[in-house]
Amino acid sequence: MFEQVQQDLRGVRQVFATSRRHWTTGRQLRSKWRAAQEAGERIVLDDFGPPIPSPGPDEPIADFSPKTGVKDRKSHLMTLDEYPSINYAFEVKNPPVSGNHINGLGETEHRRASPIFHTWQFGHPMGKLEFLFQGIRSETEWIALLKRQWLSRRFSGEKSDVQVPVDDPAAMTEQIKQLTRDAGAVMVGIAPLTEDMLKEEHPFDYPHVISFGVQMDREAALQAPSEHAGLTIQSEYRATDRISAAVAKHIREMGWDAEAAIHSLIQIPAAIEAGLGQLGKHGSMISKELGSMYRLGAIVTNLPLVLDSPEDIGVDDFCARCQVCTTNCPPHAIFDTKQMVRGRERWYVDFDTCIPYFVENHGCGICIGVCPWSEPGRGEAFSIKQLALRKKRAEAAKEN
Ligand code: SF4
Ligand code: SF4
Repeated sequence: MFEQVQQDLRGVRQVFATSRRHWTTGRQLRSKWRAAQEAGERIVLDDFGPPIPSPGPDEPIADFSPKTGVKDRKSHLMTLDEYPSINYAFEVKNPPVSGNHINGLGETEHRRASPIFHTWQFGHPMGKLEFLFQGIRSETEWIALLKRQWLSRRFSGEKSDVQVPVDDPAAMTEQIKQLTRDAGAVMVGIAPLTEDMLKEEHPFDYPHVISFGVQMDREAALQAPSEHAGLTIQSEYRATDRISAAVAKHIREMGWDAEAAIHSLIQIPAAIEAGLGQLGKHGSMISKELGSMYRLGAIVTNLPLVLDSPEDIGVDDFCARCQVCTTNCPPHAIFDTKQMVRGRERWYVDFDTCIPYFVENHGCGICIGVCPWSEPGRGEAFSIKQLALRKKRAEAAKEN
C-alpha cells in the first residue's frame, strides 16, 4: 500500500514536471511556428531552447535538406490527397553534428546506440528539432502524452518476498505469453537480452526480454501524417505501456524481477531476436502477421523462460527488389541499399533527412503505411513465395 502511494506520487511529479516544461517552452514557439507556416516563412530554431553542442573539428554537420533525384510517388493507399510539402516552416542556421554520425553510419566497430531524440533534455545535438517537436503538440496530444506519463509510475516496483519456483520453464513461458496475449498483444516472443538492445546509459541487469506487438489502427495510420494518426499512435503506445506494466507486475508478484522496458530498450532489435519479424528497408520491423502495422512493447526479467530465435521470413529478398517506401518517402530519407552501421550491414534511414519532415508534420509513418507487407493478409503469402523463390534460385545455381 505504502509502495503504491509512493508510485502514485512519483507519477504526479512526472506529469507535473512534463506539463511545466511544456507550458514554459512550447506555447510561444507553437504560435510563432504556426504563423510562419501560414505566411510561408521560416522561424530560426537557433533562437529557441537551450544551447546545443557545436560539432567537433572532425565531426560532419547535419544536412537537413530533402534529397533530390529520386522518383516521387504517392501511394493510392494513403488517404491524404497529397503528402505535406517538404518546405519546412523552420530552419537551423548553425547545424549540429550529423545524426547519422551519432547513429554510427559508416562505423565498422560494433557499439551500443546513443540516445539522439525523444530524450526531453534538449541539450543534445538534435535538441532544437526536439524542442520544436515537443513544443508544437496540440492540447489534445499533450493530454494523451500526460496519460502515458501517469501510467509510467507502474513500470517498475518491489517484487514479492516469496518466490514461485519455476520447475518447467516451457510451461511458464506459455503462461506468460498467454497472459500477454490476453492483455491485448497480437504477437509475443522471448529473446536473450543483449547489451546492444539497450540505450547507451542504461544498465544491463536482466537476462531476458519479453517482446510483444499490438495491432495498429490501419485506417488511422493511412491518414498519416495527421493529428488523428498521431493521437491514435499515442493511444496504441498507451496500450503497450499498460500491457508491459501488467505483465511486469504479474512477474514481480511471483517473486522475480521484472520491469516494463519502455525507455531503456531499443524495441526493434529485441523484437527481431524474439522471432517477431525482420528489419525492412524502411527501418522498421516487418512481421508476417501485421507487416509494419504494430506497436512494440517489452518487459525485461530474470524469470526462467524458454527463448525464441530470429526467423527468416524473406523480407530481405523482397526489400531488395521493392522501392515503394523509398519513392513514397517525401524527403527521400530511405537508403535503397544496406549501409554499415555500428559494425553491421543493415537497412538504414537517413536520420538527418527523415527527422525534419517528421518534426514539421508532428509525426510521419508514410513508409510503414505504404509497405505491401502492411496490407492485411498479405504477409504470410509474401513470405512463402519469397522463401520458395530463394530455394528455386539456389537449386538452379547448384545445377549450373
Ligand atoms: S515498402 Fe518495400 S522496400 Fe520498403 S520496407 Fe516494405 S517491402 Fe521493403
Ligand atoms: S517516417 Fe518514413 S516516410 Fe516519413 S520521412 Fe521518415 S522515412 Fe520518410
